[in-house]
Amino acid sequence: MTESSDTKVLDLLIVGGGINGCGIARDAAGRGLSVAVVEMNDLASATSSASTKLFHGGLRYLEYFEFRLVREALIERETLLRAMPHISWPMRFVLPYHKDMRFDSDTPTSKLLGVFMPWTKGRRPAWLIRLGLFMYDHLGGRKILPGTKTLDLSGSREGRPLQERFTKAYEYSDCWVEDSRLVVLNARDAEARGAQIKTRTKVISAANENGHWRVETRDTENGELQTFHARMLVNAGGPWVGDIIQSKVRLNSREGVRLVRGSHIVTRRLYDHDKCYFFQGTDGRIIFAIPYETDFTLIGTTDAEHSDPSVKPECTPEEQDYLLDFASQYFKQPLSRDDVVWTYSGVRPLYDDGASSATAATRDYTLKVDTSAGAPVLNIFGGKITTYRRLAESALDKITAQLAVNKGRWTAGVPLPGGDFPVDGVSGLIDDLKARYPFLSDFWAKRLVRAYGTEAADVLGDATDATDLGRDFGATLTETEVDWLMTHEYARTAEDVLWRRNKLGLRLNSDQSRALDDWMARHRRSASAAAE
Ligand SMILES: Cc1cc2nc3c(=O)[nH]c(=O)nc-3n(C[C@H](O)[C@H](O)[C@H](O)COP(=O)(O)OP(=O)(O)OC[C@H]3O[C@@H](n4cnc5c(N)ncnc54)[C@H](O)[C@@H]3O)c2cc1C
Repeated sequence: MTESSDTKVLDLLIVGGGINGCGIARDAAGRGLSVAVVEMNDLASATSSASTKLFHGGLRYLEYFEFRLVREALIERETLLRAMPHISWPMRFVLPYHKDMRFDSDTPTSKLLGVFMPWTKGRRPAWLIRLGLFMYDHLGGRKILPGTKTLDLSGSREGRPLQERFTKAYEYSDCWVEDSRLVVLNARDAEARGAQIKTRTKVISAANENGHWRVETRDTENGELQTFHARMLVNAGGPWVGDIIQSKVRLNSREGVRLVRGSHIVTRRLYDHDKCYFFQGTDGRIIFAIPYETDFTLIGTTDAEHSDPSVKPECTPEEQDYLLDFASQYFKQPLSRDDVVWTYSGVRPLYDDGASSATAATRDYTLKVDTSAGAPVLNIFGGKITTYRRLAESALDKITAQLAVNKGRWTAGVPLPGGDFPVDGVSGLIDDLKARYPFLSDFWAKRLVRAYGTEAADVLGDATDATDLGRDFGATLTETEVDWLMTHEYARTAEDVLWRRNKLGLRLNSDQSRALDDWMARHRRSASAAAE
């Protein structure tokens, strides 16, 4: 086993290559700090690829009076859309109304109504939903996204897939984002600004040495040990934030994280329009049904306590049935397990605010600097994909104060790689790409623009024919593209490519995935032989 030690003292070592770690790395590198991110698996391999993938204010959080979080997230939606119009886009949400819809009995709103309007008996009245949507429209200033409107479902496209008892709905705006691509693009931009991004690198211990951190890591592929030195540590370990505090940095901290699993199911496409549904259940919870990857529908999510981050979260049969039953209360065509083509599950690393239920635990973030070990560590609890950039700014406020650096905020309005084009420019980019590469099908061109934006032509290079791109592993994924993903986007395995750099895992069969994995293993070996 080899060991190496970098004697340079970095400003920041960030543990965790999820959205929070990579977002902070980008912001910090852009302010001139020397930064390394160490991620024990692939980037976004944990929670940040398992979200519902919405840039949203979180309509339901209004019932918990989380006005700060909702306002920040609502404002942020349009800032993010502008910075990444390839991987994010506006979506309309249809919220069918029915008088039997109920609150979670734990929300402050339901408690208030219970006292002042006991006759509502836990039901969510229509006027309250309208009030919530009014606030949603106005709390966060919109320029791009249209506001709420009322829909008559009878005979409409939106009403057709639903049971006939739903005659009225509200329609409002939020946005979609490709969560795992968001992480990779932040990492790439951080690297372009000088950060080191080290995947498959696990932090095994950290200790104060002469007022700075000495951090030991292990390469999870070849076991190689490496030592980093840093003035400050950022613990962006997501579900492992507590594990890092207790067993890696060994702090005597009282802050706690509450792990709440959320699962999704994916079915074949259930309806023929591009809007999402927001379904309210009789248990007070809500789920979404969202058009997904053109030919599929995504349904989620659940809230279940998850005690141990090292236990891989999986959608249990009970969670599947819960989601299928929930959606079947709305769709005309009842759903069964036979409809499910894929499931995924993630763990929310929520700040433990002592809430009674997993659904009620706060989704806001909390940042705590701990200097008790003699060198500072910033522990990150909670957060949303939507607020990652604002979380990074708040983190940098604390970091720059500790490190006495005087560089201000800069990320609002600066596009991520491939995102330097207008919010309504996707169809123009697709047309340009097809004009330059006439062999591309519609599906292929759209897929490339949605993944790489203005960099799509960099991926394809000077190909004049599909055969110039090498072997097709299936569903338009070529050798040239996989090579790009390995060279520019830290991909190492077929799983990295098929489930995090894109979602072609939904389309490739197991033989095709294995062939891709073999090819990537050979490619890695020849690249490292060439480097020696
Ligand atoms: C079901 C579900 C739905 C959600 N939906 C939404 C949504 O629609 N919109 C939204 O805004 N937010 C949503 N969220 C919230 C959002 O996904 C999370 O807040 C966010 O992804 C957390 O990112 P993170 O970087 O903190 O954690 P993670 O993405 O989990 O990253 C932490 C990383 O740290 C690494 N790590 C841990 N220990 C070590 C170590 N010792 N050494 C090196 N690396 C280590 C892990 O491998 C991991 O990759 C959802 C969350 C869930 C679970």
